[in-house]
Amino acid sequence: MDNQYRSTFIFIGFCLAVLLLIFLPDAGYTVNLIIRGSAIMGLVYAVYFYYHYLGLASGHVHYSEQDDSNKIGILSDEIFTQTHYTALQDIIFSMVKSMNNAFESGIYIINPKIQNFELQKSTSSEFLEQIDINNTIAIKCINQKTTATFYQKDHTTPWQEIFAGQTWRGSECVVGQAIRFKDKSVGFILVRSEHFSDIDPNDLMLFEYLGDIVSLFMEELNSLEESIDNNQNKSRLLDLISELNFKQDEPAVLNTFRNLIRSFIDYDCLTISSLNENHMQANIKLADGIQAHLPSENSFNIHGTIHGLPYNEKKTINVMNWSKRYSNLSRFKAGDTDEYRSDSVLGVPILIEKDIWGCIIIERSRSVRFSKDDETLLILIARILGAAIFWVNEYQKIYQNAIRDGLTGLLNHKTFMERASDEIQRARRFQHDLVFLMYDLDKFKRVNDTLGHPYGDYVIETTAQIMKDNVRTIDVVARYGGEEFAIVLVNTTQEMAMVVAQRIVDNIANHEFSMDGTDINMTISSGLCEYPKDSEELSDLISFADISLYSTKKRGGNGVTIYQDEEETLGT
Ligand code: GH3
Ligand code: MG
Ligand code: MG
Repeated sequence: MDNQYRSTFIFIGFCLAVLLLIFLPDAGYTVNLIIRGSAIMGLVYAVYFYYHYLGLASGHVHYSEQDDSNKIGILSDEIFTQTHYTALQDIIFSMVKSMNNAFESGIYIINPKIQNFELQKSTSSEFLEQIDINNTIAIKCINQKTTATFYQKDHTTPWQEIFAGQTWRGSECVVGQAIRFKDKSVGFILVRSEHFSDIDPNDLMLFEYLGDIVSLFMEELNSLEESIDNNQNKSRLLDLISELNFKQDEPAVLNTFRNLIRSFIDYDCLTISSLNENHMQANIKLADGIQAHLPSENSFNIHGTIHGLPYNEKKTINVMNWSKRYSNLSRFKAGDTDEYRSDSVLGVPILIEKDIWGCIIIERSRSVRFSKDDETLLILIARILGAAIFWVNEYQKIYQNAIRDGLTGLLNHKTFMERASDEIQRARRFQHDLVFLMYDLDKFKRVNDTLGHPYGDYVIETTAQIMKDNVRTIDVVARYGGEEFAIVLVNTTQEMAMVVAQRIVDNIANHEFSMDGTDINMTISSGLCEYPKDSEELSDLISFADISLYSTKKRGGNGVTIYQDEEETLGT
C-alpha cells in the first residue's frame, strides 16, 4: 500500500468506528469487534494525526538528540494545550468506552525535564499523574512495536506505580500501545480491563495488526499531508467525516459518497463502477445526474471507452473535449452515438490494497475542465471510498470469525454472554431450569512457566474437547477467559447437572496430557448455580458460580461446589 492510501485506511477506520457507533447503536458484539479494531487504529492514528498537524507541522515537536539510541522522542508541552487535541482525547476515550464500557484508558507522554511519563488525560482517576521513567510496564510499552499486555498478577510493583493503590482482583490487565513520531516513541496509550478475558484472541489479533500498521504509518505519514495540503481540502475532509453515513452494505456506502461528491463538485453525470471478475468489463454500481444514455446492460468494456480509461491507465484522467483527444474511444460502447455529449471528464480509480476495485467518473457537457481542487478532492474521496468498501468486506470476515474462540472452537466470551442471556429469556418463557457452571484449571500458570505457552495452549484445547464431549449439543459451552470455561446446561435438574459437572472434573483429572514426549496431569475446579433458584440475573448467576468455583479452589481444587453449599459453608 502506498502511504496516502494506508493513511486513509487508518483514518476511515476511525470515521467508520464513530459512524458505526452512531448508526448501529443496537448492533451486537460482532459490530463491536470491528468497532474495536477500527477504533484502536483510529485512536492511534488520530493521536498521531493531531500531533502531526497541530504539533509537528507547526514546529512544536522536537526530539532529544541524546535519546536517539533508545528511540524515545520528546514533545514539548505546548501541543497539549490545543483545544483540538483536548477534544480529540475525549473522542478517543469515549471510543474506548463504547468498545467496552469496562475499559479504562489513559494517555501518557514522556516529559524529559523531569524524567517521567506524564498523564495527559484518563477515563479513571486510578491512573496516576506521573509514571517513573524506569517503570517496566511503561518501558515495554515504549519499546515494543506491537501492543503489549500486562497482567496485574504478574506485574504487581510496576502496576502499583501506574494505578492508585487499592486492592486488585488479580484478573486485571492492561494493554499498551506506543505513540510514535518518526520512528521514535513519545508515549503510550494504556487500556485497562478488569478481566483479561474481556480481551479475546480476536482483539489481540487486531491489536497486532494495528501495531504493524502503526509502525509503517509512522515512517511514511508525510504523504498524507501532501494529499490534503490546503486548508479547504482539509476542512472538506472533516466535512466528509461528519457527513459519512456508513451502512453495512455497499449500495448505502456508495450513496453516501454520491451525496458527498454532489455537494462538492459540479457535474452533469456521475458514475461509480467496479471491475468485473474477468477484468475486461466494469459494472455500473451507481449513477447520478443524466442517466438516459447509460448502457442498458449496466456494464461496459474497459477497452475502447473513456469510462474504461482510468482502469487501463491505472491513474486519474482529467480532460476537456475528450472526444477530440481520444478520438478512438467511445463513451460506453464502440460506435455509440450517444445523445449525451460529455465534454469534460474527471475519472479516478478506486483502489483496494493497490488493486483497482472500481472507478468514479464525473462528466460535464460544457467545455469547463474540472479544476485541480476538484481533482485532488475526488482522489481523496476515492481513497476513502476504497477504504470504506474494504471495511465492508472486512466486516463480513470478522462477522464470520467473531463467534468462536480461535484456539478451542468454543464460543467466545461475548457470544457466551449473548447466548446465556438468550437462554435465560427462553427459560423464563418456558419455565424451565438452567444450570450455570464455571471452570478454571488449577495451577495452570505453572504449565506455561515450566513447559511453555504451546503446552499451555495444548492443555486448553484438550480441556475444551473434554467439555464438548460431556455436554449435549443444546448446552452452551464457552471459553470464558484464558483457562476459564463456562457452561449453561439447558433444562437440567441439579442432580443431572452435578453428574455432568463432576464427570468433566474427573475426566480432566484422569486424562494423561501428553505433548512432545512430556506427560502431565491436570485438575480443574468448578462452581455451580441455578436459574431461577439462585438468581434470575445473568451477572448474579455468573458471579455465584464464580464464588463457588473459588470455594472449590480454597479446598484444594479438583472438584465441584454448588452455590447453595457455599452459603451453608459460609453460614456455619
Ligand atoms: P489457580 O489454581 O488459582 O487457578 O492458578 P492458575 O495458575 O491457574 O491461575 P491464573 O488464573 O492466574 O493463571 C492463568 C494464566 O493463564 C495466566 C495467563 O498467562 C495464562 N493464559 C491465559 N490465556 C492463555 C492462552 O491462551 N494460552 C496459554 N498458554 N496461557 C494462557
Ligand atoms: Mg484463571
Ligand atoms: Mg487457573
